[in-house]
Amino acid sequence: MEIHRQASGYRPYPPPRKNVLLLSCMDLRLIDDIVPFMEGDNLTNRYDQLVFAGAALGVIQKDHDSWYDVFFQHLDIAVKLHDIHDVYIMEHRNCGAYAKFLGKKGNYGDTQRELNREENDHRKYAFLLRDKIRAHCAKKINEGEDEELWSVNIRCFLMDLRGSVLWLKDDGSDADV
Ligand SMILES: [Zn+2]
Repeated sequence: MEIHRQASGYRPYPPPRKNVLLLSCMDLRLIDDIVPFMEGDNLTNRYDQLVFAGAALGVIQKDHDSWYDVFFQHLDIAVKLHDIHDVYIMEHRNCGAYAKFLGKKGNYGDTQRELNREENDHRKYAFLLRDKIRAHCAKKINEGEDEELWSVNIRCFLMDLRGSVLWLKDDGSDADV
């Protein structure tokens, strides 16, 4: 579902009640577009931001193993210090890090077929990270940490180069991956 950044009434997911941790790519073309998207969810000064080249793929990729730990160490701090109850994973089209980490298949053209392939790849990696975050939170609860503290929603998005955002709908299954 397409979400125009200024049209908050069309955002089809529940608005965050507490604070948010945002994971985004480092891409310099979209830094300014992310801010109004977050403001559209009334999140001005209510989100921590982690920036990894490739967003979800950046956290998961194996070329730089330490990035995975860096992400989860920061998630732990965000949850404990800032009452984070939503994680936003903001992927974006034409991501140079996808080409870097996936090689040739991480380059996508502008045909509908290529756009679909690009969307599916972002959904795949965003949902993989979503599942790892869920497992991480469940482990904390199993270890005896506060269940309310570690109840975290995860929303996945794909931004295009105009700053328009597609919500990667999460129906709780991986059927679309
Ligand atoms: Zn990128």
